[in-house]
Amino acid sequence: MSFSSLGLNPTIAAAVAALGYEKPTNIQTQAIPLILEGRDLIAAAQTGTGKTASFVLPLLEKLTEGKTQKKKRARALILVPTRELAIQVNNSIKQYSHGLPIRSMAMFGGVDLAPQKQALIEGVDIVVATPGRLLDLYGQRAIYFEEMEAVVLDEADRMLDLGFIEDINKVIARLPDNIQTLLFSATLSNPVRELARTAVSDPAEITITKHSASKREISQWLITVDKDQKSALLSQLLNENRWEQVLIFIETKHGAAKLVTQLEKRGIAADAIHGGRSQAAREAVFEKFKSGQLQYLVATGVAARGLDIEGLPCVINYDLPYPEDEYVHRIGRTGRAGAKGEAVSLVSKDNFKNLCMIESRMGHLIERREIAGFVPKKPVPVSILNYVPKAKRQQTENGGRSERAPQRRTDKRNSRKS
Ligand code: AMP
Repeated sequence: MSFSSLGLNPTIAAAVAALGYEKPTNIQTQAIPLILEGRDLIAAAQTGTGKTASFVLPLLEKLTEGKTQKKKRARALILVPTRELAIQVNNSIKQYSHGLPIRSMAMFGGVDLAPQKQALIEGVDIVVATPGRLLDLYGQRAIYFEEMEAVVLDEADRMLDLGFIEDINKVIARLPDNIQTLLFSATLSNPVRELARTAVSDPAEITITKHSASKREISQWLITVDKDQKSALLSQLLNENRWEQVLIFIETKHGAAKLVTQLEKRGIAADAIHGGRSQAAREAVFEKFKSGQLQYLVATGVAARGLDIEGLPCVINYDLPYPEDEYVHRIGRTGRAGAKGEAVSLVSKDNFKNLCMIESRMGHLIERREIAGFVPKKPVPVSILNYVPKAKRQQTENGGRSERAPQRRTDKRNSRKS
């Protein structure tokens, strides 16, 4: 199977060949013909499966064939949860559209509006946007939606986790009725299906299972440890295992900065990306990591979302992620493209419920290990598979109605928290 035989024009086929893609991945083989046919789509596919190209390539094909671009009127919209993913998807579009007269831009909050407005005035075909900033610019009449031919909801589950549901619904309500809608999500959880009910019509559905995603092998294990021993344990793990590169996930930006200092005190050079650093600083650190100059990268979950890092030998959850789907996203960073990977989590007693939720979500327990010298004084109880947290139990008992209003965060608040 070649890219051309999927119905893509020679310029696009040449652009992907120049990137070294020899043949389409599973999701690309399935999604590209459906999108070219004009179908709406729901696809369950994680980062690392080649999902970005699976929607960008057919969109490029369609946009090349179609009408021409008008000022302030983009023709395709890709909604993403974070600015990092917006930048990354936009970079992919630039690579894939090499040689085509297609213009694209990344639009996200936390930066000056003026350059984004100017780009829209100059004219763009594809806008890759976080929902909050897009609505800001729409409200200011800097962008109109009448000419939109397609919309992609990328990492839909993540957008819902971040509380963007209201914003997404507002955007959808303002798009043309006959627009082609493509929804991509790592998991098709109930809230994602709920969103799909309002967003897509008569969709084709594709599920890329973990196995067919990349034939990757990920060895997952966890170490039980007391909270105050975590940084010492991490230093020992890094020194003993000598992983070529490690991405370390942590909960808060303060925690990230502190951990870098603690590692440095023990002679381990690391750097961090989190919402407390400028965009330029984050990008510089990420580039260093990607090019291999930096061995250990500490990142908050939100800041690391969308970072395109392939085939990492190891991911460490210094803090367990919440909600549980995030765990699946994180371990997806490792062991790509047939390379073996390790996903290690440091778990203390107060993470117990979170751990149960993650294990229930995956349908199996994660292997537990104890490390001499770090055996916890406060043991982590034995896991409960099929664990249902109290709030969810109450919700079920109340006939499915949540007693708490859904939490909503804007781009700005989100980046502050990360
Ligand atoms: P994604 O799932 O979109 O995050 O893509 C993961 C990685 O796979 C990116 O680094 C892409 O450059 C790469 N990739 C996408 N499609 C292909 C392909 N057909 N062959 C080889 N690599 C690919």
